[in-house]
Amino acid sequence: MDNAVRDGAAEGGAAEGFGTARAEAWVRAIATAVEKEQDRLTELDSAIGDGDHGSNLRRGFAAVLTALDGLDPAGPGALLNRTGTTLISKVGGASGPLYGKAFRAIGAALPDTALPDAAALGEALAAGLDAIRALGKAEPGDKTIVDAYTPAVAAYRAAVAAGAGLPGAASAAAAAAEQGARDTVPLQARKGRASYLGPRSIGHQDPGATSTALIFRALAEVTAA
Ligand code: ADP
Ligand code: MG
Repeated sequence: MDNAVRDGAAEGGAAEGFGTARAEAWVRAIATAVEKEQDRLTELDSAIGDGDHGSNLRRGFAAVLTALDGLDPAGPGALLNRTGTTLISKVGGASGPLYGKAFRAIGAALPDTALPDAAALGEALAAGLDAIRALGKAEPGDKTIVDAYTPAVAAYRAAVAAGAGLPGAASAAAAAAEQGARDTVPLQARKGRASYLGPRSIGHQDPGATSTALIFRALAEVTAA
């Protein structure tokens, strides 16, 4: 494989490409964030769900790290595809198949032959959102992952259209995802376990939207480096 793809070191600066090393750094940063925020995610899920979102994701990403050990992926697409497959097989809750399908779609959309640039990663992230919506059928405003992921993709694309590179686009996406997660507080859940609570789901931040914000913040961290 082309070393530039493996290292994420594009001509014109390492910050511009999303190669295998950077994809792996992203997944590892998500695992670290999930470990650190496990209790908070569990607290949020205890308020409007069954209290397992933190442990679901911690178990899932721990399994992903194990799967990555000794893996020699053809490129960032193959690595993220494997990440998704592992999440689907290891996480029992709703979030496992949803995030699993998203990572598989992101991986499938990334070329393993050329170093993906900021725009290519944006299209791949959008494919991840499409996969979540195809599986979960949630609309924006239903108090789910979609409420953080949708503004993140919009902000990422707007930043790229305005001339931003990978670090700028990822940081705009992270800020938008965090705002989207906060904006779930006044919403009534219409999808997932929290919807069983009806109006009692109002006044709590959605756990899945919160973990989506962690995922985009992790992307911003690893692309800024
Ligand atoms: P479970 O609800 O099975 O216990 P988790 O606790 O791991 O699974 O995940 C709960 C999160 O999953 C919710 O906070 C919500 O954001 C997300 N979620 C649930 N259903 C959907 C859906 N149909 N579409 C998008 N996200 C969803
Ligand atoms: Mg749960």
